[in-house]
Amino acid sequence: MQNAVVISGLEKRFTRKQDDAVSLAVDNVGFTVPPGSFYTLLGPSGCGKTTTLRCLAGLESADRGEISMNGKSVFSADDRRDVPPEDRPIAMVPQSYGIWPHMKVFDNAAFPLRYGRKTCSRTEVRTRVLAMLEQVGLAEYVDRWSTQLSGGQQQRLALARALLCEPEVLLLDEPLSNLDAKLRAQLRAELRSFQQRFGVTTLYVTHDQGEALAMSDTIVVMNKGRIEQIGSPAEIYDSPASRFVADFVGSANLIPGVLDGTAGARVVEAKTSIGVLRCERFTTPPAAGREVHVCIRPEHIRVVDEIPETGAANRFPARITATEYLGDRREVVVAVDDVELRAHADAHLAARPGDDVGVVLDPAWTVALWS
Ligand code: ADP
Ligand code: MG
Repeated sequence: MQNAVVISGLEKRFTRKQDDAVSLAVDNVGFTVPPGSFYTLLGPSGCGKTTTLRCLAGLESADRGEISMNGKSVFSADDRRDVPPEDRPIAMVPQSYGIWPHMKVFDNAAFPLRYGRKTCSRTEVRTRVLAMLEQVGLAEYVDRWSTQLSGGQQQRLALARALLCEPEVLLLDEPLSNLDAKLRAQLRAELRSFQQRFGVTTLYVTHDQGEALAMSDTIVVMNKGRIEQIGSPAEIYDSPASRFVADFVGSANLIPGVLDGTAGARVVEAKTSIGVLRCERFTTPPAAGREVHVCIRPEHIRVVDEIPETGAANRFPARITATEYLGDRREVVVAVDDVELRAHADAHLAARPGDDVGVVLDPAWTVALWS
């Protein structure tokens, strides 16, 4: 099957009006979205997510690169091709939802069927709009003014309107960011199940790593206009490719060191200020002597009673500096020499700040990062 979206070498510059300073908002971005997948652009504010999405929608013209949808080129800087938004097989829900306040719920949802790419008869509009509003749980609000809807309901209305366009690709820009935390968690499950039910290829933009991990088939992590890593949620979380990804997605302990020769095909060793660390996760290891950062997530550090001998691999004597009871676990800060590490311990761990303990950094979950 053809890939739903293929982007390559996308570049977009903006010139600031006041001083003509040029910034590269999107810098050599490329990825391939398989049909039917939930594909997420994740990154901090200002990293170029919205600009990438707007280039896909045809609302922004890139300076370089190519975009194709379902095997058809919709943008090519070299060939000077730029298919207008209304002729691309997409629907976009902008961050603000774009709901018309002067229209009722029904008319908002019906808008694309009356004025869009594929218009249809009055009776068909009525049938399809009512069926879709039913699907998103807004059947009883058909005759309300759209301003009388709650944030979550407006979000569902925007989604219903986009789905009524029967897009081949649905573009969603931070659709949950205006909602409170509880509703956000509920709607993210809902959104994912709509997406699966309709089978529509979805490009989803968010700065929320929890949302990205929970909803996506594939995550593209962006930073300063560039792609840092593309992978499944588990690949991104368990095998981050850079310090930026390790730190932005979840929380990570990062310990600087130097690669100490290759211990084997499946493990590398890094010399760090707390001792030698064995890492079973890494990309192709470069030459010994190269600077690395060793990354380990708090849940892969065990706090133990017995204090290990110095020199044992990935086991160190440590002192507890702080603990915090979170109900289901205890967050512990331990100092190994003067390096502080965060660990998750049993909620009922008896040790308290000042106590001497041991820590074990599971080599299977220890990652050597080159950048
Ligand atoms: P994100 O959606 O990841 O927060 P954006 O794509 O909105 O990021 O912005 C990326 C960068 O491009 C930012 O530095 C932003 O200030 C800049 N930018 C976006 N749109 C414009 C514009 N119309 N004019 C000038 N700069 C812009
Ligand atoms: Mg944005």
